[in-house]
Amino acid sequence: MAKLEVLHFPDPRLRKKAVPVETVDSNIRSVAEDMLETMYDESGIGLAATQVNIQKRIVVIDVSEDRDAPVILVNPTIIAVEGVEQMQEGCLSVPGYYDDVERAERIKYSYVDLEGQVIEAEADGLKSVCIQHEIDHLDGKLFIDYLSPLKRQRLMKKIEKQEKLLAQA
Ligand code: ZN
Repeated sequence: MAKLEVLHFPDPRLRKKAVPVETVDSNIRSVAEDMLETMYDESGIGLAATQVNIQKRIVVIDVSEDRDAPVILVNPTIIAVEGVEQMQEGCLSVPGYYDDVERAERIKYSYVDLEGQVIEAEADGLKSVCIQHEIDHLDGKLFIDYLSPLKRQRLMKKIEKQEKLLAQA
């Protein structure tokens, strides 16, 4: 296993659209393991392959309190949504920034597991939000895209400042 580098906004590679995985083979399994290691190391609850510069539709999540329930979703797709929910979100690619985002409350989704089986499942609460957030990544979308123009402007200023400080260091 190896820890991967997580891309940070505004890296343009975060805007790339990931392609579906055709076959779940040893290469895909090893990418998924590296992604899990990276997610746990960075204390995240989810990670999409796009965030580690791999343009394949792979997502790993673990929303359990004990950090012992990893789920690997290959080619995750949302089939149905219900309700609306607002939750504070953060992202390993936008470190130090958190804001409320409105998403579907409950989802029905499908994915392929590491054995190549197609699974259908339902999620609500944090898990539902997390899956929607990660699938957005695979489509080149970030949670900050949902913010109001004013909030986004403020965030951009903050990031520019941080980048200047880093460049000076
Ligand atoms: Zn994210």
